[in-house]
Amino acid sequence: MARLTITQPCTHDFADVPTDLFIGGHWLESVSGRRIDVIDPSTEACLASVANATPEEGIAAVDAAEAAAPAWAATPPRQRAEILRKAYELMSGRLDWFAELISLENGKALSDARGEAAYAAEFFRWYAEEAVRIVGDVALAPAGANRMLVQYQPVGISVLVTPWNFPAAMATRKIGPALAAGCTCILKPATETPLTAYAMAALLQEAGVPPGVVNVITTSTAGAVIGKILADPRVRKLSFTGSTEIGRVLLKQAADQVINCSMELGGNAPFVVFDDADLDAAVEGAMVAKMRNGGEACTAANRFYVQRGVFDAFSAKLTERMRTMGLGRACGADTRLGPMVNAASRTKVAQLVDDAVARGARVWTGGELPAQGEGYFYPATVLTDVAPDSRLLHEEIFGPVAAIVPFDTEDEAVALANLTEYGLVAYVYTRDLARGLRISERIESGMIGLNRGLVSDPAAPFGGVKQSGLGREGGHHGLLEFMEAKYIATNW
Ligand code: NAP
Repeated sequence: MARLTITQPCTHDFADVPTDLFIGGHWLESVSGRRIDVIDPSTEACLASVANATPEEGIAAVDAAEAAAPAWAATPPRQRAEILRKAYELMSGRLDWFAELISLENGKALSDARGEAAYAAEFFRWYAEEAVRIVGDVALAPAGANRMLVQYQPVGISVLVTPWNFPAAMATRKIGPALAAGCTCILKPATETPLTAYAMAALLQEAGVPPGVVNVITTSTAGAVIGKILADPRVRKLSFTGSTEIGRVLLKQAADQVINCSMELGGNAPFVVFDDADLDAAVEGAMVAKMRNGGEACTAANRFYVQRGVFDAFSAKLTERMRTMGLGRACGADTRLGPMVNAASRTKVAQLVDDAVARGARVWTGGELPAQGEGYFYPATVLTDVAPDSRLLHEEIFGPVAAIVPFDTEDEAVALANLTEYGLVAYVYTRDLARGLRISERIESGMIGLNRGLVSDPAAPFGGVKQSGLGREGGHHGLLEFMEAKYIATNW
């Protein structure tokens, strides 16, 4: 356990946040003797340091997951469900505590962090309900010769690798279904945000998760540690959320042992507004789709395509709203937009904006780094007159920047929306439902927000097509990602 060094006003006590490896139900210092500093993006101060696992400690986590696997798979679904339900209740009682911890290490505004904590807890509730709904099939073979039984079994030891942008929800979106399915797991959270993951491990222990069922390790050498784990034939599942770039690396590594992979990767979401849209609703949805998490979301609207008849009105209204996004320390009471997670992220966003401006973009608000000071801040920014070859129309911005481009026809909107290798989510605003559904079918993405700026729901299948990923998380689909169908041919 470590007391956090907090240099911004805070209301909760974080004396009990663990910072050591969680393996086999024990909190262990790494034999490496090295630690990883966790930085508060609001102040650039070191909050705490966490253990730095070696590849051998990664294998120790696999050993623990293997030892716990038979008993956990044999635990009655009702009992697994009740442990998950307990985790939901414990977390629901501590949403503000988790929210502040998330804000401290990630930098997102407290209101965003509260939203994330509640969303994260819901995965425990949903999968508590799913654990007792694992049903198979019985059928007569078409030839009439025999019966076909299909039952679902846990896929096996699962490796869960998560990003920093939703430190709680990306962990529970994987741990919930893994545990419901009867799998044991090893979670490797992002180096920027390990404290939420360790706090989650402690909560799961308190909820009654047996030793070894959930193991958590942090490391500064993710490539070496995860590479070694994926080379271990006992590991049967990789569930990864992160960038497409790292996803490709992991898919190649997983191929050697033919490991079952679920990949939640990057996005480049289009936000399409037609002339007939309810403009106020579209602006409201745009603020959610763009500014939830300060733009650091895979679902963040990256490219705004607005039909010419409402282009100026939409741009003006969005700018007005973006100007109200008070920039400040993550835990500040008036803060609507916290800092970015680290200096590299801020530099990337600044470079994308500078690139667009150099190609002729007009800045409606923001667009400049704040005067030098502590914290990785970047202001809410709106750009128009964005040249088609601007980098920010093709790369994930992952920051509080909205680039607005006009279009004329429905076909043009679809072509622009599909002009990307990504396909996670798209947003469409129109009062014409037939057009909305037609466009939704034509846009190449795993999810569509039709007159909505938010699609995430623990009960829904979340995931992308094209290079945004493989598989789905959430809903019943998310449970099946941690299960294998077993087909038994028989007669009676
Ligand atoms: P990232 O750099 O790909 O890292 C994600 C995770 O992978 C981290 O835990 C990271 O550890 C680990 N990692 C990095 N290199 C690795 C390697 N060689 N082998 C094994 N693990 C490795 O992504 P990020 O910057 O944290 O997160 C932002 C990205 O996640 C964005 O692209 C975003 O769109 C995507 N995302 C997607 C979804 C979705 O559901 N589709 C949801 C959220 C985020 P370290 O921290 O130690 O580098």
